[in-house]
Amino acid sequence: MDADERDLSPDEAFSLLGNDTRIRIIQTLWEADEPLSFSELHNRVGMRDSGQFNYHLNQLVGLFVRQKNGKYELPFAGFRVIGAILSGTYTQRAESTTYELDSLCVKCETRLEAEYDEEVVSVCCPACDEQRSEFGFPPGAFEDREVTELPRTFERWLRNVFSMMADGVCLNCSGRTTKSLVTESKYFEQEAEVGVEFVCERCNDHGFGSIGSYILQHPAVVAFHYEHGVNLRQQSAWELEWLIENESRIISDDPLLVELDGDELTVTVDDTLNIEINEL
Ligand SMILES: [Zn+2]
Ligand SMILES: [Zn+2]
Repeated sequence: MDADERDLSPDEAFSLLGNDTRIRIIQTLWEADEPLSFSELHNRVGMRDSGQFNYHLNQLVGLFVRQKNGKYELPFAGFRVIGAILSGTYTQRAESTTYELDSLCVKCETRLEAEYDEEVVSVCCPACDEQRSEFGFPPGAFEDREVTELPRTFERWLRNVFSMMADGVCLNCSGRTTKSLVTESKYFEQEAEVGVEFVCERCNDHGFGSIGSYILQHPAVVAFHYEHGVNLRQQSAWELEWLIENESRIISDDPLLVELDGDELTVTVDDTLNIEINEL
């Protein structure tokens, strides 16, 4: 029986992948980058026993491999398997290392450092001994990247993960994330008075961000910076002085209302996470 037209339980779906030949079939279709006939696929995978090959291929058809007009190709689920293999989340263990970032600490101008350990990046200023960010990062992202590219890659990754969570989509499971303005959270890693907490309703993956990093996504904040010659897509958030230096203040407890002052802008965030911006 093949996987066609079946709803599979997670253990059934994962067990379909627990075989070297099947993984080779998926990798071969991905490398081919075009639909392959049975014999083309069979030849490229290079398995002698055609009956065995046929059996393994049929196990994948319907979920991880699509059969169309007599040829085989990868559907979305197949690409997700390739993505998981390439990102290395399950297969690689990157060495723990400390990287010097291009960004300087806004408080003391020491070069910031990113420590990578157990698939987690922690960005901190070694002189101030203060942590700026902490986030998961797939080990496969190190492959084929020069060390000099890594600081920007860390930033881009963090910005996009954060923005997906803020937009209500979990990067881990694509479930719905909820966000709330909180003064207490079990996810507070650093001392913070108030912040934004994201939790995935489905897989419980979570994140926490400062008010500053949350409003960084707002079009008015992006536009304000742009008008002042700062492209927030290129600018390291760790070097934004207002973001690091300015503490957000709670101006009302019930309902919770928070204000963040800049030199030219005041931003308030209410308990439903609506953002209001006033130019000074
Ligand atoms: Zn510092
Ligand atoms: Zn999730």
